[in-house]
Amino acid sequence: MKEFIVTVDGPAGSGKSTIAKIIAKKYGFTYLDTGAMYRMIALYALKNSIDLQDSKAIETMLKNTKLDIVGNQFFLNGKDVSDEIRTPRVSAIVSPVSAIKEVRVKLVDLQREISKGKSVILDGRDIGTVVFPNGDVKIYLVASPEERAKRRLKEYEEKGVEADYESVLTSIKERDFIDSTRKESPLKKAEDAHEIDSSTMSIDEVVEVISKYIDEKIGV
Ligand code: C5P
Repeated sequence: MKEFIVTVDGPAGSGKSTIAKIIAKKYGFTYLDTGAMYRMIALYALKNSIDLQDSKAIETMLKNTKLDIVGNQFFLNGKDVSDEIRTPRVSAIVSPVSAIKEVRVKLVDLQREISKGKSVILDGRDIGTVVFPNGDVKIYLVASPEERAKRRLKEYEEKGVEADYESVLTSIKERDFIDSTRKESPLKKAEDAHEIDSSTMSIDEVVEVISKYIDEKIGV
């Protein structure tokens, strides 16, 4: 089969990564979690108290950050930060960091580089609109903010991360607002994307709908 690209965009907690991992396994695609890449830069900015208004500091930060992805593990300058990037502390700062143009330029380049010559499924905010506007199958996955907050809280509980429903809901709404109103590559549905509202759907049901779109395109 030729290289095949599936893009999955949508707001925080809509189930993108859970679904994308299952689809990747089912079709033998490489899965790329682009949100994790923005989270790594955000973690670096947090740890090094980078002033997000200072363009020189941003430039230096981007020169000093090496991101490596090995399976489901994320390495920032050689250190495994897979758990650390998922904490509420990082979630709180990642949207302002990802709104910076220079950050996006570096990460979009890296996403295209990693995907080169492969069949991939990528999830994020701008994959179907900016990173791969010619993607083969484009999905826009949504769910109500309340449902998304419930899911995120469950994830935190499973990982032993302290959080409460109200603050998770507020954080999700804040991120949605920043992500969808920013100037650079805002979160929005690509015109040719299939919109799926997963609020009342099971994971299996969402996977089934997406599989149908993929199979149609592959010609199964
Ligand atoms: O997907 P996840 O919730 O981990 O993404 C974290 C943040 O990274 C998002 O809220 C958004 O600000 C940013 N992001 C982005 N573009 C992407 C993926 C994520 O701006 N393609």
